Parts: sequence; structure tokens; C-alpha cells
Amino acid sequence: MGSLNIENVKKAFGPVEVLKGIDLEVNDGEFVVFVGPSGCGKSTLLRVIAGLEDSTSGRVLIDGTDVSVTPPAKRGIAMVFQTYALYPHLTVKNNMGLGLKQAGTPAAEIDRRIKIASAMLSLEPYLERRPAELSGGQRQRVAIGRAVVREPKLFLFDEPLSNLDAALRVNTRLEIAQLHRRLKATMIYVTHDQVEAMTLADKIVVLNAGRIEQIGSPMELYNSPANDFVAGFIGSPK
Ligand code: ADP
Ligand code: MG
Repeated sequence: MGSLNIENVKKAFGPVEVLKGIDLEVNDGEFVVFVGPSGCGKSTLLRVIAGLEDSTSGRVLIDGTDVSVTPPAKRGIAMVFQTYALYPHLTVKNNMGLGLKQAGTPAAEIDRRIKIASAMLSLEPYLERRPAELSGGQRQRVAIGRAVVREPKLFLFDEPLSNLDAALRVNTRLEIAQLHRRLKATMIYVTHDQVEAMTLADKIVVLNAGRIEQIGSPMELYNSPANDFVAGFIGSPK
């Protein structure tokens, strides 16, 4: 399970309204991509879903349950950030297992999950290394692995490939697509990269200045953009 309903979510920082009423349905197992210009509210929306920010109003439901008062660790969500956010002093293995350990998961179960995730992400040779001994692509795979071992209902990715060079971006993108097929988990993925959006998404959500301009499949948006903004973003050449 891993459906998500966002109902009229608004978020203000002081006087500035950053999310101006977001409504969105994500089905279990769907791969949904958020695109939109820098500052339009993509990260804020992910953080509200994750519970890292409270919305000013509106509701977030996961599998039909309002999670407004559910703490982030109890929402069944794992988030992957652009900057990896790994602990430099911990090995790959311990970075991947830390969240489970803190949640009281038995060591044997942590080891079992790390074994599976590290095989999926080709991380087995690196389990005893520290982040400084890894390439950027390997570090991001560790951050993804750390999300996988938690067996979340919902994965949130915030521009996970932005710090990687072009070749690694392609590889890592393919790995994320493969992970989605294997885990059949719900994934929400933020990017400003049109190719990532078009190739990964079942459904693309185009955001602009705190509102949704259009929601649709890549082909729907490409062939029938609702307005010039969407057309410009999804890139039928102007
Ligand atoms: P995006 O991820 O689409 O680039 P963000 O969600 O990070 O956009 O930010 C949307 C807007 O909200 C920006 O104008 C940003 O400066 C503002 N913002 C984000 N977080 C905070 C915060 N903690 N305090 C004040 N303003 C914020
Ligand atoms: Mg952002």
C-alpha cells in the first residue's frame, strides 16, 4: 500500500504563501514526478508530505489516513536528498542501517535488509567503506539504499541526481526506474530535468508559483499542454 491524497494544502512562511492550495491524488505504486521552476514550492510540498514541515491548512492522507499529527518517522515514508545526507563517520553499512537500529529493528533483520538492498544497488563491495571513500554516484546509491531498507510505502526523491555528472545521472536514473519496477512502491520524484521527468513518470505534476498548472501522463502533457507555461516546460519547441 502507498496511496497519497493531498487536499487543498497551503503553506506560508510568515506572510509569504509558498503553496497556494495543492490537490493531488497518487495511486499505490505510481511514479509521480514534480517539475517546475526553482522556488515554485516542490521541496516544500515534499517536506509537507514527509512531515518535515507542517502545512498551514489542508490535509495529507496516506492510505486514507490523515497523517497531520503523525510524526515523520511513523509515516512510512523515506526521503532521498540531492546532497545524500550521509554520516561521514559511519560505514556504508551503518549509514544504511542506522534508521532501523534507532527504530529498534533486530540486528539480524537489519543485516537481511541491507544484504538485499546492497545487491539491488550494486553496493556489496563498499559496505565497510566510509562516504569519503566513495564517488558521488556511489554515495547517492547508499542514500537510496538507506531508503530501501526502511521498506517505506512512499519514496520521496528531491532532485537526487542534480549533483551527478551526465553519465552517472543516466545510470542512476535507470537504477531508480528498475527499483520502482522491482519494489512496486509509490515514488514521488522532484526534478527540473525534462528527460528525467519524461522517462520516469507515470504522471507528471507541473508546479508554478505554488499552484499546479497541469497533471497528466508525459504524453498527455507533451501533446496537449494546458497552457504556454506547461508547453514551455515540457518542451514542445516554441
Ligand atoms: P523549489 O524546491 O521548487 O525550488 P522550495 O519549496 O524550496 O522551492 O521553496 C519555495 C519558496 O519557499 C522559495 O521562495 C523559498 O525561498 C521559500 N522557502 C522554503 N523554505 C523556507 C523556509 N524554511 N523559510 C522561509 N522561506 C522558505
Ligand atoms: Mg527544491
